[in-house]
Amino acid sequence: MENLTTKPYRILLYYKYVTIADYEAFAADHLAYCKELGVKGRILIAEEGINGTLSGTIEQTDAYIAHMRSNPLFADMVFKIDDADGHAFKKLFVRPKKELVTLRYDTPLDPNVISGKRLTPEQFYEQLQRDDVIVIDGRNDYEYDLGHFRNAIRPTVESFREFPEWIRKNLQDVKDKTILTYCTGGIRCEKLTGVLLNEGFTDVAQLDGGIATYGKDPKVQGRLFDGKMYVFDERISVRVNQTDEDVTVGKCHHCGSPTDHYINCADDLCHKQHLVCEDCLDTHEGYCSDECQTNDAAKVIVK
Ligand SMILES: [Zn+2]
Ligand SMILES: [Zn+2]
Repeated sequence: MENLTTKPYRILLYYKYVTIADYEAFAADHLAYCKELGVKGRILIAEEGINGTLSGTIEQTDAYIAHMRSNPLFADMVFKIDDADGHAFKKLFVRPKKELVTLRYDTPLDPNVISGKRLTPEQFYEQLQRDDVIVIDGRNDYEYDLGHFRNAIRPTVESFREFPEWIRKNLQDVKDKTILTYCTGGIRCEKLTGVLLNEGFTDVAQLDGGIATYGKDPKVQGRLFDGKMYVFDERISVRVNQTDEDVTVGKCHHCGSPTDHYINCADDLCHKQHLVCEDCLDTHEGYCSDECQTNDAAKVIVK
């Protein structure tokens, strides 16, 4: 069901691969604009394009979208929009970067030149049900652990840059199969499918707009996605499967029981992100291990 009551805030997620000639100057101007407007979030600007997620009131986000679309470079940029009760970020970061998405890979890849076929949520849903496709989660392990498409492969990577090496080690015997990839909003797949094609895979497709778009499609309603989608804002987890097949796939770091709740270890020197159930949150007081819990207790006594 769509929300009948409109919430006062919105969260935007967007990207576009397009050459921004003087990207450092653009980033400086964009930071000033965003500060003035009052939005919060994280925006990366590189020579190869822009990738942002931000929160603001309906008025602020409307103004932001209109401002971006008035620039010919971003006139056709797609914005994924979520309703929210308040800001989803504490601060505003607008940063110039060398690349939007960092890969440990020798060949520079421009998604406007080499990238997998783009599938709509409906097409992706159909392809998912074939039994001869290989589905690769294009995100990190901790994102997969909170929720993923059924039967998707969990890459053992801790950061996106490790993907080329993982592909070379693990996927050599499926080069002729249909490969489907997906990520949160689509930006990582644009590069990931480029790597696959460049490595000699022949039939490579990606979920256009990512899980964020898939979960909002009125026809597929997030079907075949199990668990929640990891997001890089204060919500951390977002529902995708809108049907009664919605399940929890995350497992408590301490006891293994089902949970969607990610926290950072309460020990300032650790901060390890881990899933925790309500009972264990009580008994372990937000620490990831006994060691962290005792370390911190010791520090308090020293004070
Ligand atoms: Zn537990
Ligand atoms: Zn810890």
